[in-house]
Amino acid sequence: MVAASRRKPLALAALRNLACGAVIAFMGLRSRHSAFHGRLIGAKIRAQTAREQAAKAAREADRAEAEAWSIRMEGFGGPAQPSPTIGQCINGGLGWLEVECNRCNSRASLPLDAIRRPHDTPVWKLESSLKCRTCSNGRHAPPVHMIKLTEKREITPYVWVHPDEEDR
Ligand SMILES: [Zn+2]
Repeated sequence: MVAASRRKPLALAALRNLACGAVIAFMGLRSRHSAFHGRLIGAKIRAQTAREQAAKAAREADRAEAEAWSIRMEGFGGPAQPSPTIGQCINGGLGWLEVECNRCNSRASLPLDAIRRPHDTPVWKLESSLKCRTCSNGRHAPPVHMIKLTEKREITPYVWVHPDEEDR
């Protein structure tokens, strides 16, 4: 009797331990999942932040390169090559190209994002297709040369010359 009365609580205790173990295992799984969930969110946030920082760094690099080219053009008259690309100038926030006619010295500003050229085209390649129409007579429009890059339009919009028209 004594042994039996001892066995019963033992069995109950074992059952309770078993149930307890199951609960602990379940809780363990849940807390492991929530830990992974937290790590996953953390990793995603870090990836996004790193991408944003990389994009910002690329913009700063593009701007610095476009600025250096612009200073070289305006301050030293070139050389125009090598130059940043249309895309780099736009990405760097210097999306306007100022040009001057070789004959009449009229100046105009050209919005780089309106040029139908691939964005990886170096800016210097545009020069040969730009012509002044202010002083052009008939088909022979005098060439222009590039002055500098600007953030905004600073002078006349570039309506009198269009680089794409020659290609058509
Ligand atoms: Zn001209």
